[in-house]
Amino acid sequence: MRRQRKAKIVATLGPSSSSLTRIRSLFQTGADVFRLNFSHGEQSEQLARMQLIRQLEEEFGRPIGVLADMQGPKLRLGRFAAGKIALKRGQSFRLDRSEEPGDSKRVCLPHPEIFEALDKSQILLLDDGKVSLQVVGHGADWADCRLLSGAVLSDRKGVNLPGVMLPISPLTAKDRSDLSFALDMGVDWIALSFVQRPEDLAEARKLIQGRAQILSKIEKPSALEQLHEIVELSDAVMVARGDLGVEMPLQHLPRWQKKIVRKCRSLGKPVIVATQMLESMVSAPSPTRAEVSDVATAVYDGADAVMLSAESASGRYPAQAVSTMSKVIAATERDRFFEPIVHALKIEPESTGPDAIAAAAAQVAETTGAGAIVCYTSSGATAKRVARERPNVPILVLTEKLETARSLALLWGAHCVQTPDIASFPEMVEKAGRIALEQGFASKGSRLVVTAGLPFGTPGATNVLRIARIG
Ligand code: PEP
Repeated sequence: MRRQRKAKIVATLGPSSSSLTRIRSLFQTGADVFRLNFSHGEQSEQLARMQLIRQLEEEFGRPIGVLADMQGPKLRLGRFAAGKIALKRGQSFRLDRSEEPGDSKRVCLPHPEIFEALDKSQILLLDDGKVSLQVVGHGADWADCRLLSGAVLSDRKGVNLPGVMLPISPLTAKDRSDLSFALDMGVDWIALSFVQRPEDLAEARKLIQGRAQILSKIEKPSALEQLHEIVELSDAVMVARGDLGVEMPLQHLPRWQKKIVRKCRSLGKPVIVATQMLESMVSAPSPTRAEVSDVATAVYDGADAVMLSAESASGRYPAQAVSTMSKVIAATERDRFFEPIVHALKIEPESTGPDAIAAAAAQVAETTGAGAIVCYTSSGATAKRVARERPNVPILVLTEKLETARSLALLWGAHCVQTPDIASFPEMVEKAGRIALEQGFASKGSRLVVTAGLPFGTPGATNVLRIARIG
């Protein structure tokens, strides 16, 4: 199954997409990576989805990536005695640590670290920014606030503190349990929510110990202050526009989206653009014109992947959403202005042999009109370097490690095949040609550009570039 596009699709699974038939149809219509969102549902539900994904992998003989998204330290209010309350603009409202159900005068805010971080006149945003409060007085476990807007508030609504770096880990006790569960299930990627600083990555890496790759969700403006370091320390990044757009005035979101994508592309880290891409398809069979344009913009920006959240997890038209995304990506990539736009970002290769080979491979493939760049890789690092060049030919990734093939399902332009390591030059060329033919990347007489590392099977040793003709 060869995709006729370079940018990938991440589809979130949920109640609308939990049966084998549904997940199969999402895969067949174009999902490359499935996201298991640990903010919703039980671990047993995620395990059932994971087992179905691996079953499909066997059925289709194609590696499929699985991304386990940790809930992270999402701050929430407690509950109200009446379930919900109405608040008036200008009224007083207290947040405290009492576990008594709330009313129109007060509610529990079960996060001591928030009270510690408060300043007088600090703004708190509730319910994805729909409600704003200003602190007028505070103590160690309470804060008196004034409502800046009238609103209805219901149980467990989210709380954001714009501009505040909270002294909290990106992994809560629930996340630690979910993390170990997800690693035991054999997921390929762990997404960390609300990453604030580079140290957060070090903490996660210690726990994950190389059992999965780490994706940082950029959803806190504080993360933008150390974006370079966070991207460098991550294996991939998500522009998580939902939460990012709560603490940041929305008009600044597009330029930050572009800046994050550029940073990731420069550093050769896969980047996903996420949230509300085809939101109206949660309840309608076709998207708005603006949504279609949003997907295309991410593709023109050279993002590795675009993501569906509620559209595929709980919407009424999950397969139509994937198919729409796939068609928009393919049409955008066929535009004759696509390449010049994507290549407007100048990528400087690092002064290493593998980087020089990757940059040369893209150039040689273009000049010789090769059918594909065939990239032998163990860790996936060479494939990421080649993809960083955004070559105008497909990247056929050959690896003996199934986990590498699965994780690279997220990588721009990569079509991964698991195959045993090569041992000689003739085998390198023969196998590249045979698999390129089998997978539909070339025909007899086509040229291929092949990259590999000598001695064969040594990770990180890419030092060979060969032009081969399929005999
Ligand atoms: C987001 O906030 O955009 C996001 C992807 O995170 P989540 O869906 O976990 O809230």
